[in-house]
Formats: sequence, C-alpha cells, structure tokens
Amino acid sequence: MSRFAEARFLLSAAAPAQFPADVGAEVAFAGRSNAGKSSAINAILARRSLARTSKTPGRTRLLNFFALGAERRIVDLPGYGYARVPEQERLEWGPLIDTLRHRQSLRGLFLIVDARRGVGESDLALVDWGDPAVRRIHVLLAKADKLSRLEGAAVLSSARGRLGERASIQLFSAVEGQGLAEAQRVLTDWLA
Ligand code: GDP
Repeated sequence: MSRFAEARFLLSAAAPAQFPADVGAEVAFAGRSNAGKSSAINAILARRSLARTSKTPGRTRLLNFFALGAERRIVDLPGYGYARVPEQERLEWGPLIDTLRHRQSLRGLFLIVDARRGVGESDLALVDWGDPAVRRIHVLLAKADKLSRLEGAAVLSSARGRLGERASIQLFSAVEGQGLAEAQRVLTDWLA
C-alpha cells in the first residue's frame, strides 16, 4: 500500500483567509507551467489524477491543498512562466504566496523543472522565495525519461552548478518511475 494512502484533496484557496489552519507540516510544490508538476505529485502520492484541479480554467491562481493524513499537507502552487500574467492576477497572487511562505508548518519546497529545459531564471526566483537559508528545497528534474543517461548526467551536473548548496536535486520521471522512491523518501522525511 502506498505510504500516502490517505491522500485526498482538501481545498483550493484564493485568499490567505481560506488557508487551512497553520498546524502540523506541509510541503509546497512549484514549477513552470508544463514542467510536469501535476504528474510528479500524482506519481509521488501514487494517485492517478489527484493533482488535476489546478488545471481547471479560471482556477490557475489558486493554491490547492491536499491532506496526507492528520495535519500533513502538500500545497500545489500555480504553474509560473507564462509571459503574460494579467495585472489583477499578479496583485492577488503576491499576498497569497507571501502568506504561504511565512507559515510555521511549511517545511520545504519541491521545485519541478523540466529536465530538458534545466534550471532557469524563474526557477531560481522560486528558490529565493523558498528561502533556502531557513527551509529545505528539493528539485526534481522531471521527464528524465526523455533524456539519455549521458544527457541526464549533464543536466544534473549543470543544475547542481546553478543551485549549489541551496537545494538537493535529483532526476525524476513520473512515466518510468525513475527517482520516485527517492522523492517519496524526501517528502516523507520532511513531513515527519
Ligand atoms: P504541469 O503543468 O507542470 O502540472 O505538467 P503536467 O504534469 O500536466 O505535464 C505536462 C506534460 O508533460 C503532459 O503532457 C505530461 O504527460 C508530460 N509529462 C509529465 N511528466 C512526464 C514524464 O515523467 N515523462 C514524460 N515523458 N512526460 C511527462
């Protein structure tokens, strides 16, 4: 049985007042749109389509909370990286993620990066947001099945160069299961 057998959708928050109580432990998941974040969440939690609500049109700027048993949560952040974000959306988004960042229960950030793109500027901005000095950050280089072993090793090394001590990094494939056990172990440790 999956170690996250109790995983279930909890709520979508459009404003900090809607967040679940700041108790227990939670881990945020972020990534550029299309990086493979939903697939990674579903694979890690061994669910076929748990993290799909974020795709619903009009709900793109919501924070989706999933409960993994008592007082353990993951928070699915909206995908970033679209060139054009309406001003209104940006105004609403700021306080939302600023509040999230200051929650006592936030243990760390999983950052999902398309392995073929590598770590980019917008990803580095999220690393800063996650505040690596106080909180752990784990990068999944997703869709690793699309790379050869040699290419994967090169991407890993280049990402390590860009991130240095600020994050732990691994190759990951939701499709082939590469790195799945490692990602589950990190999440389990952080939520313990
Ligand atoms: P999100 O926008 O970051 O949530 O990305 P999705 O999880 O929806 O994935 C975006 C696209 O990449 C979809 O077409 C997925 O089928 C594909 N994808 C996601 N993960 C993998 C993977 O591990 N391997 C491959 N080959 N494709 C993937």
